[in-house]
Amino acid sequence: MPELPEVETVRIQLLRKVVGQTIDSVEVFHSKSAGDDSEIEEKLSGQTISNIDRIGKLMIFCFTPNEDLFLLAHLKMTGQFFYVGSDSDVIGGGHSMTAADMDLPTKHTRIAFHFNDRGTLYFNDMRIFGYVKAVNKATMLEAKKRFGPEPIADDFDCEEFGRKLRLRRTPVKAALLDQKFVAGLGNIYVDEALWRAGVRPTRQAKRVTKSEAKALCGAASDVMKESIAVGGTTFQHFKDTGGENGNFTDYLKVFGQQGTACSRCGETIKKIRCAGRGTHYCPGCQK
Ligand SMILES: [Zn+2]
Repeated sequence: MPELPEVETVRIQLLRKVVGQTIDSVEVFHSKSAGDDSEIEEKLSGQTISNIDRIGKLMIFCFTPNEDLFLLAHLKMTGQFFYVGSDSDVIGGGHSMTAADMDLPTKHTRIAFHFNDRGTLYFNDMRIFGYVKAVNKATMLEAKKRFGPEPIADDFDCEEFGRKLRLRRTPVKAALLDQKFVAGLGNIYVDEALWRAGVRPTRQAKRVTKSEAKALCGAASDVMKESIAVGGTTFQHFKDTGGENGNFTDYLKVFGQQGTACSRCGETIKKIRCAGRGTHYCPGCQK
């Protein structure tokens, strides 16, 4: 499943290719992927993409001249965006892709956005949990409300984060996974941030001290920014929009490292279940 750094990597690369492009036509191969909106082509034709924003893992395409029109795009488990330029160059990212699948559209292509300059943006989604929905501003703002502040945002308030964390009646890991509390931290990054901050995932959130909360805040931001810088984690098949494998996997300290020695204290990394998720931590240096 693409996590925030993967989504951000896709967004940044698509920004360079599709902003300023005008949509000529829209082909919907699977109506569920377009939110069963039979008017999506009518809404988008003639519109120029003016920006691609993001909150959590939700991508938000903005348009001109219709500034009351937005595309909400979520990759969920297996979504991908691939852009094929008029020069046949393919850039794209999201979930799994083999060389044979690069011959777009594929059998998993759900929507194709054709641009005036003959380039095309493909939305592929094997499992069909993802979506691309055309909405108005009110719906877009409503969708944004489902997300809390992001640790990587410049204006993220660490003190407020600590205060709110201590009000929660769950293990710290569950709090960090709650997108309404903090947006964008998936399972991998929560485990990594907790290891960096020396906090055990099972600790009750209300028992995280002020200084630990501050460390956690910095760790969450750092781990995501470092991952974005190298294009995310590859795991199964994630590719960035240049077709390059991301390689943040090489930097993981606890996630997937169970049974190996902690690089900080030498204790053996454990894997347990916490907040309903496979959870990795070091019993030696995470208190
Ligand atoms: Zn350790």
